[in-house]
Amino acid sequence: MSHEGIRFVDKDTAARQTEADRPLSRIAVTPEKVRVLLSEGKGLEIDWADGHHSAWTFAWLREACPCATCIEERTQQGRKPGQPKPAPANLLPMYTPPPKPGSAHAVGRYALQFNWLDGHSGGIYSWEYLRRVCQCRECTFAAEEATGTPN
Ligand SMILES: [Zn+2]
Ligand SMILES: [Zn+2]
Repeated sequence: MSHEGIRFVDKDTAARQTEADRPLSRIAVTPEKVRVLLSEGKGLEIDWADGHHSAWTFAWLREACPCATCIEERTQQGRKPGQPKPAPANLLPMYTPPPKPGSAHAVGRYALQFNWLDGHSGGIYSWEYLRRVCQCRECTFAAEEATGTPN
């Protein structure tokens, strides 16, 4: 019996894709305020208990979906979380509306889940994952330093 083709992606894999083992303190992954700017269509903002502030656009979050399917697709295409798919070269450019969730809800006390308007909803965005993919200048600079590649 062959197990080839079956791959297990545990919930921490998405976080490991970005910055391997940067230790995060408990307060660094505890959100104090979470704002999902649904009606504005802007994105997600989190104020963390350690005073840090993070913001992501919905388009970025959709491309950083931490579900097993999306992680596998990004890995195959060599994309980082949040990096959009390359536009197909042999097709006429088509207008696609920017990704947006129809709704969002908390998963227990550890994560957020988005119901994207494209029908996808499998990604559980844990606070730890979100903090690790913080897009503020300070964090993206630290990530560049760590990996040696521009973000
Ligand atoms: Zn996904
Ligand atoms: Zn940050």
